[in-house]
Amino acid sequence: MIELITDPTPGTISYFQSILESEGIQTFVRNENMSGTEGMIPIFHPGLCIVNDSDLDRAKQLIADNQPSEISETAPEITCTACGEKNPGNFASCWNCDAELPA
Ligand SMILES: [Zn+2]
Repeated sequence: MIELITDPTPGTISYFQSILESEGIQTFVRNENMSGTEGMIPIFHPGLCIVNDSDLDRAKQLIADNQPSEISETAPEITCTACGEKNPGNFASCWNCDAELPA
């Protein structure tokens, strides 16, 4: 399982989840109903994960192709420090090389 994006707005997660599922990609939302947490991390954002790692490239491309306008306006693109590719601002890791992106 690989986490694709995290977003504090549940609507964004479900938006991308419906896009991926409509393309036949199995997804999983992490931290959606967080209860009984053990850790000290103060904030949990829901994260959209894919079940099958082999869907990763296609899933990331679909997300990149379906950015709602309000997201691209509020979340500036992140340039990957490893390969220099630009990523949508809500990506957790680079779509091109999988490097972790700066927050
Ligand atoms: Zn990269």
